[in-house]
Order: sequence, then structure tokens, then C-alpha cells
Amino acid sequence: MLDKLSVADLDLKSQLLFIRVDFNVPLDKDANITDDTRIRAALPTIKYALEHKGRVVLASHLGRPKGKVVKEMSLLPVARRLESLLDVKVLFAKDCIGPEVNTIKSRLEDGEIVLLENLRFHQEETGNDPGFCEALATGMERYVNDAFGTAHRAHASTVGITSFFDVSAAGFLIEKEIRYLGNAVSDPERPLTAILGGAKISGKIDVIQNFLPRVDNLLIGGGMTYTFFRAQGFKIGDSLLEEEKISLAADILKEAEAQKVNLVLPFDTVIADKIDPGAQTRVITGKEIPPGWAGVDIGPETIKKYAGYVKNSGTIVCNGPMGIFEMTPFARGTLEITQALAESSGTTIVGGGDSVAAVRQAGLVDRITHVSTGGGASLDFLAGKVLPAIEVLTDKK
Ligand code: AMP
Repeated sequence: MLDKLSVADLDLKSQLLFIRVDFNVPLDKDANITDDTRIRAALPTIKYALEHKGRVVLASHLGRPKGKVVKEMSLLPVARRLESLLDVKVLFAKDCIGPEVNTIKSRLEDGEIVLLENLRFHQEETGNDPGFCEALATGMERYVNDAFGTAHRAHASTVGITSFFDVSAAGFLIEKEIRYLGNAVSDPERPLTAILGGAKISGKIDVIQNFLPRVDNLLIGGGMTYTFFRAQGFKIGDSLLEEEKISLAADILKEAEAQKVNLVLPFDTVIADKIDPGAQTRVITGKEIPPGWAGVDIGPETIKKYAGYVKNSGTIVCNGPMGIFEMTPFARGTLEITQALAESSGTTIVGGGDSVAAVRQAGLVDRITHVSTGGGASLDFLAGKVLPAIEVLTDKK
């Protein structure tokens, strides 16, 4: 699927290999890693490089330190976790460029590994600064990018650095992400159903437009629902509304009809008298929401119907929660759709930070075909956009 050079195409023995990984993991206030999924997702490429006797230099960002050294965003805890996951000594460099780093690189032996400190402690990383790219590439002989989570960003370590290498290859995680997400868009098992939720139409509009000509069913949930309701002429009380997107919502509804896409809006809605876990709630059938009330989740009838679509589809792509799932009383729609995905015999693909969090919360990660590690990157990919860090990799001959 991905017509780019793979890490498996490179001769790695005794080569100083720069691997851009995405170790942007959540930390608690004591710098403990609360979810190491992204570290685990990079292991196949790292293990492969070590087994093939590469001299491995790993680089990542963590958080948004905005060009300053922020102790709480150090990658040191990640180095320790990686060490225990690999069961191999992982060296840690206190910076990502400079003479000390260059010395560490030059002393690496075959099958040894060092993790560099947070790339974004230097503002030149996000600025894609040529001098910084050169400093990162100093002494390095091979380049692999396996950081799917930042593939939609043209930064120094993902784009600029590649000009210092003859060839640039993709790691196994990027290959896997593109295989699943790419198949869903271009060659899905049918029927193809997309379930899109989240707060706003504006955040998902490019995905909706890219999906319309491809999907059989497009199920809408979450906060964006009510702008669609308004576009159909209903009153929506205090529900989330994007006033300036009402006409766009109307256009999407027309477009779906013209393209014979089954665009489905919720049949019933859980409404609350305030956005608070202690709020009074009711379920209304239909689309008219009374004044003083806001839509906070899809209703039980909608859950049943959406779950039916999931059951009868060959491929299901889900991105964005069905309601304000951070508040337990409004999480049912999101959790039950997640459960339906887990029970589906089709290919199930979940992307986006909140949907992935819901899958994790429900303990269902192993029952989803592919849980994407990239929030913004997976949305951009599903929207049909070119991911700059992937485009820049060397084409397979
Ligand atoms: P997004 O980042 O666009 O995927 O949006 C995720 C956010 O949408 C979550 O924080 C949800 O709480 C929020 N959300 C989902 N449903 C609703 C709703 N009915 N009203 C307001 N916010 C919602």
C-alpha cells in the first residue's frame, strides 16, 4: 500500500541510524507515564534495528515546551520505560544536538541504543530550521521515520532532516497505519460505514467531504449533530451550535442526498438542563430540543440503530465521541458504540484522541482491528490530505 522505502529495505549493520519516533506519551504530575501505547507501538521498528545490528539513535518530542527546557517534559522517564520494555540498556542524552550528543553517537556499538532529549526543547524543531536539521543529522548514516503521530507536521526531524540522507525510509508503525487507514479510504470491505462525532463540524468537515463519495453510511453523533438539526430547521435549545456552519451543514445534507449516501442523524437525544454530571436529564425523540436544555449524548434508539450499522458493515471507521463522554452520565452512547465496534466481525478502525481514550477506558483495545496512534495525522489522512513527513520519504523503486 505504502509505496515508500521501508526500514526493512535498508542495510543497517554497523550503521548509525536516526529513528524519529513518537514518544509523546501522557505523564502525571510526578512524571510517571500513564499510558505507554505510543512507546509499545514503536517497538517493532526499534527491535528490528537492534536485531540487525544498527547503532540506534531515537528522537522524539514530548508535549509543547515551545523551545524551552521544561523539566517536566523530559524524555528521561521514557528512556527508563523503553529499557524495561526492550530489556536492553537504553542510553539517554541530555540534549538532542551538540558536541556531547555527537560523542555519544560516535561511541555507539552495533546493537546499542540512545534516546535523545526532547526535540522541542529547541524551537528550531517546529521551525524546520536547516541548521538544526544538519545538527540532528551529524554523523548519522541512515534515516527512518516511524512517528505517525507527527506525520502531518513538517518539522526539522520529520521533513528537513531528510535532505541530509540519500534515502529516507518508513518504519513499521507508519506502514501499518497507512495500510489500515489507506484501505479504509481506497479499498474497503463493504459496506463502509463512518461514524463521526466530536465537538464541531469545523473539526471534521474535511473528513466528511472526503468520505462522502466513498462511504455507504455516514453516521453523525456528538456536538456537531445540532448544527445539522438547525440546518433542517429545528430548534436546538442550548445545544452546541456553530452558527456560521449552518449553511455548510445544509450543503452536506444536500450533497449526501445527491450522492445517495445514507447520512444518518440521531433519532433520539439525551438532553440535560446543564453541562454537569449532576444535571437533570431526559431523552427526547426527534430533533426539537426544548429551551434551557442541551443535547449531551445520542439516545438509546440511536445507539441501537448505529450498533446495527456497525454489525452489518464490512469496514467501520470511527472518529470522535458520540456525546460529552468525559462526564459519566453522558458517556453511554460513546461506550456502547465502542462495545459494538468490539463485537463487530468487520474491520474496525478507531482514530482521534477521544475515541481512542474511550476504547482504552472500556478495555477493548485488543478487540479493535486498528487503533490509530495519530489524532491529527489520522484525521488529515482520512481527509485525503498529503502528510508531509510521509510524502518526503523515498519512493520504493
Ligand atoms: P473533537 O476534538 O472535535 O473530536 O471533540 C471532542 C469533544 O467533543 C469531547 O471533549 C466531547 O466532550 C465533545 N462533545 C461530544 N458531544 C458533545 C455535545 N453533545 N455537546 C458538547 N460537546 C460534545
